[in-house]
Amino acid sequence: MASRTGDSRDKDYMIRRTKIVATLGPSTDDPETLREMIAAGLDVVRVNFSHGVAEDHIRRVNMVRECAREEGREVGVLADLQGPKIRLERFRNGKVLLKEGDRFVLDATCDANDGDEQRVGITYKELPNDVKPGDILLLDDGAIVLAVEDVSGETIACRVKVGGELSNSKGINRQGGGLSAPAITDKDRADIRTAAEISADYIAVSFPRNAADINEARRLLHEAGGQGGVVAKIERAESLHGIEEIIAASDAIMVARGDLGVEIGDAELPGVQKHLIQLSRSMNRVVITATQMMQSMIDNQIPTRAEVFDVANAVLDGTDAVMLSAETATGHYPVKVIEAMARICSGAERQKVAIISRHRMNTEFHHVDEAIAMATMYTANHLNVKAIAALTESGSTVQWMSRISSGIPIYAMTRHEATRRKVTLYRGVYPKAFYFPNGTDYVEINRAVLNVLREQGAVEEGDLVIITKGDLMGIHGTTNVMKIVRVGDY
Ligand code: PGA
Ligand code: MN
Repeated sequence: MASRTGDSRDKDYMIRRTKIVATLGPSTDDPETLREMIAAGLDVVRVNFSHGVAEDHIRRVNMVRECAREEGREVGVLADLQGPKIRLERFRNGKVLLKEGDRFVLDATCDANDGDEQRVGITYKELPNDVKPGDILLLDDGAIVLAVEDVSGETIACRVKVGGELSNSKGINRQGGGLSAPAITDKDRADIRTAAEISADYIAVSFPRNAADINEARRLLHEAGGQGGVVAKIERAESLHGIEEIIAASDAIMVARGDLGVEIGDAELPGVQKHLIQLSRSMNRVVITATQMMQSMIDNQIPTRAEVFDVANAVLDGTDAVMLSAETATGHYPVKVIEAMARICSGAERQKVAIISRHRMNTEFHHVDEAIAMATMYTANHLNVKAIAALTESGSTVQWMSRISSGIPIYAMTRHEATRRKVTLYRGVYPKAFYFPNGTDYVEINRAVLNVLREQGAVEEGDLVIITKGDLMGIHGTTNVMKIVRVGDY
């Protein structure tokens, strides 16, 4: 492989604004693969608590952090909780073949390993209370379709509408949504403790119904000593109703197109994706677009044209991050898929619509750091500025900044490792370790900032840079200064 430093991929990563989230799994367990993934532009890893045991996740996260250190990069960690995904139990022979017109029973009393062609158990025993005759149930992400004919006691009798092979533990969704399972399960509670233990930068809540589910997850995380942000996975039809409250309660959302598409129908997905991205950006929240973005690269070395357009369109919609699931977790080309995704994102970002902002033209600002951030982005987009250097404690100023479309890199310069890792998810924001003693004079700080940027090749003699900072250093959310400096003047 090409050398990991100084080649064009490093430069590409510095220029690319859209962040890449990749799911860890058996295909990424080799440290050399992981190092190559990081070198290819991986920003955040997702550990998926739907699979494996806590020890797997702990081991993987430790390995990621070690490889990131070796590569001199910050890589964020997103711990994705399983949530109340309703699943079939298992079949005696591992799988069955269902034919159109067959009768098939979902049976809460069936032994977990005793399914056959006639009936199978279900993980959520309350399911019979949630469905009624006429409902459509979608198994295995919609590959198998059942029509409910009769519900009595603990069994749901169905007619097979679309048949096929059905294997163990496949997911069950109801068309239109509305299944009652509470969002945070006992397993999730244990997994939240693991997430706190490994200092995950984010936890993702699966199938939240409302803001209360998000608040509950955050409370549990804090109780366990965790500091990470909370990501709401939007994957239930009903979560779209109270969507503003859910977004407001979260640090970030994930457009979880897999389950969401099954519940609302695939035709609704593109419009909903665009709406969710636009809404979260306008509410100062971060957004991840997920699932099947590069699906064919599980087995192939290049993406389909449709996948190229899907990733590019999400970038043009304004997403902060694009996510890979099976493509990296179990796929054959975990490095190549990141390289391809990085290339497509960078290409899309060169489109004018990705650079010009129409954001917040008619709104009032409520925070001083928000106003400084907006003034900075307006100036950066209209003056020939090469870079923005935000001296930040919590990252709140760079979060505001990165809601604005721009082609100018935003460097989050901070002594806090947790902040550096948090901003790995923010579009156009690049973390940089930056230390200076309290009381350092302003000229000295400017000089140090410009040196860091110059060393890294981000700026050269004569370039303009915007620096933002707080007069009262060391306190969160107090950015109140924006200055424009020229490299070489200090
Ligand atoms: P999952 O979530 O990969 O955990 O199912 C994402 C989705 O549903 O799209
Ligand atoms: Mn899902």
